[in-house]
Amino acid sequence: MYGIGEKFKISVDAIKYVNNLTDYSVLKPGQKITIPPVSGLIHKVQDGDTLQSIAVKYDVPSQAIADFNYILDVSTLAVGTELVVPGAKIPQPVYIPTAVPSIITPPAYVDVGDGWCMWPTTARIITQYFSWYHNGIDIAVAGSNMPPMYACGGGVVVRAGWDPWGLGLHVRISHAGGYETVYGHMSKIYVSYGDEVEQGETIGLMGSTGNSTGPHVHFMVQYSGVAQNPLNYIQ
Ligand SMILES: [Zn+2]
Repeated sequence: MYGIGEKFKISVDAIKYVNNLTDYSVLKPGQKITIPPVSGLIHKVQDGDTLQSIAVKYDVPSQAIADFNYILDVSTLAVGTELVVPGAKIPQPVYIPTAVPSIITPPAYVDVGDGWCMWPTTARIITQYFSWYHNGIDIAVAGSNMPPMYACGGGVVVRAGWDPWGLGLHVRISHAGGYETVYGHMSKIYVSYGDEVEQGETIGLMGSTGNSTGPHVHFMVQYSGVAQNPLNYIQ
């Protein structure tokens, strides 16, 4: 198992969990085992499962599961669907009854550093940070008043419209020096393809379109097409 884990860069825990194996399991030549595609695991949706309950079970943000699996309708999950749970923490056997942990994580407020890019909205609650399985940051708003989305730097709008792969209504702006920024899940877009925008210009409103569990922006910074941690660029 350790050899297989090395080969596929997957944790031994994940292989054991997906295949119902123990530390003492001996693999026979020819035995077929399931390899999770990332260092997380595969969860087969059972009756009564919700995105939230799966997120709680593996201690990951529900938005991360939705993002990774391109779940377009987060209210229903078909029984038998195999979901990748990125970064899942393998549930350990529990011998003492314990209370279900709270799923509400406290809002994180950011101390922004130097950079060419300004904070792209008035909301400041980060619900998901940049990581190897999440190519941007999620900034959420409490309540139903959708805050404005600002062009984080000056540039040219290179996409403004619907993204079928999960971002919903989104805007992509090309900036100087090979940078692009992307604003996903918007409810309204005020700019169109080819528009020149200034830093701080309102380009639309935050929303929850596409693959989204609630009002937030999936905000990405890319350099030469490669996702960067937006917090490294924000002023
Ligand atoms: Zn996101």
